Amino acid sequence: MNEYLQRVLKNTREKNINEPEYLQAVEEVLTSLEPVINCHHEFEEAAVLERMVEPERIITFRVPWINDEGKTVVNRGYRVQFSSLIGPYKGGLRFDKSVNQSIMKFLGFEQIFKNALTGLPIGGGKGGSDFDPKGKSDREVMHFCQSFMTELQRHIGQDIDVPAGDIGVGAREVGYLFGQYKRIKNGYEGGVITGKGLSYGGSLARTEATGYGLIYFMREMLEANAHQSLKGKTVTISGSGNVAIYACEKAQAYGANVVAMSDSAGCIYDKNGIDIALIKQIKEVERGRIKEYLKKHPDAKYIERTDDNSPIWTIKTDIALPCATQNEVSLDSAKKLVENGVIAIGEGANMPCPKEVTEYFLEKGVLVAPAKAANAGGVATSAIEMSQNSMRYYMTFEEVDKKLDDIMVNIFKSCREAAEKYNLGNNYVAGANIASFTKLSEAMLAQGIV
Ligand code: NDP
Repeated sequence: MNEYLQRVLKNTREKNINEPEYLQAVEEVLTSLEPVINCHHEFEEAAVLERMVEPERIITFRVPWINDEGKTVVNRGYRVQFSSLIGPYKGGLRFDKSVNQSIMKFLGFEQIFKNALTGLPIGGGKGGSDFDPKGKSDREVMHFCQSFMTELQRHIGQDIDVPAGDIGVGAREVGYLFGQYKRIKNGYEGGVITGKGLSYGGSLARTEATGYGLIYFMREMLEANAHQSLKGKTVTISGSGNVAIYACEKAQAYGANVVAMSDSAGCIYDKNGIDIALIKQIKEVERGRIKEYLKKHPDAKYIERTDDNSPIWTIKTDIALPCATQNEVSLDSAKKLVENGVIAIGEGANMPCPKEVTEYFLEKGVLVAPAKAANAGGVATSAIEMSQNSMRYYMTFEEVDKKLDDIMVNIFKSCREAAEKYNLGNNYVAGANIASFTKLSEAMLAQGIV
């Protein structure tokens, strides 16, 4: 490997020894940049890679709140302001008990490249807390969100840093967070957070955007490879949250047969095709478990999760869409998917496939739509929400959806062109990294040593 890349990787490992997810994300990006680094010696002179792997700022803070029993609970809050090279820091908030600095940094790092691919003026950031909204009352969630925002508000703003949702942060949480921000600032600053409700400055199609965008990217990737399409293909989708639900809805609209979805406890298999209206009712309205699907569809099967391997990947499918969380596809699961004839993987979640899993898929000729590119529709539509907030003018669903579709077509084109330029065939994983890095490094060189 290129000596400069080796040195940066070694230093990054030494400095972040206790951050496995972060190191995983950095290694995945840096190792794919070799063909570019080999042609551009100016990157080493300007320490481009060293600067890219060091966040501009990390903020951690105490979040005390009172639960329904009157007991004081203390969580930890984070905001990683990773890069403002091409716009205000932008990236979601994750509320989940697994949240730690390594996960925040990996997500923030990925976000820089993803946001660059959208072609929109947004930098990279991420935040969240080890607070788990599951099983909490609305009042507890509100108290937590108010306390979280009481500190976070010092660090964000529509031209500084713009959070949004992620795992555990949906419409309810965004509403409480925005309400507290507005109360403290004594003014309506709509563009300070995205994913807002439609009644107070949200954008039509933002809820659907990540899942729809994933399917638009998949459509382009299949078309570019032997003119295939989603029509008639069997699809399995992990997760049953925001990304998974709208990926399912759009895949079905294109004529695919989605046969399985999951949550962290297990998966359902319905050979007749997933009843997405019922999934929405269970997950978006009742906040229940996916197992409850069987009450209305007793012919469907529920497979409980018993170990680290999600049972959903043992189901035969043409297209697998991991839309739950990082590292959710193990090498054993990947082997099972290949054995069962999978032709394409679409990463809806961030980093759902570890590097060796992606390499295995590519080696076996399976098409991989990488997360940075394939799930960028959500943040792209968040940027469109920010534009609407600034203009004080709202677009129709069709207008936003059309823009999203155009953006996903362009993202795919950038990945394909970068892969072609460096003779990487249909390795869109490397293509996405190279295309976004090219844009970011240009901006970095232009702005001097900052
Ligand atoms: P949600 O909270 O809406 O849904 C998450 C889903 O994943 C739930 O079904 C959850 O099940 C499941 N899940 C979570 N953790 C695990 C786990 N350890 N093992 C198995 N299943 C799990 O989140 P989103 O849909 O918003 O996000 C999903 C992924 O997509 C994340 O990686 C996120 O970073 C990424 N993403 C989201 C975007 C967005 O716009 N929302 C944009 C771009 C990326 P359970 O309810 O049992 O926990």
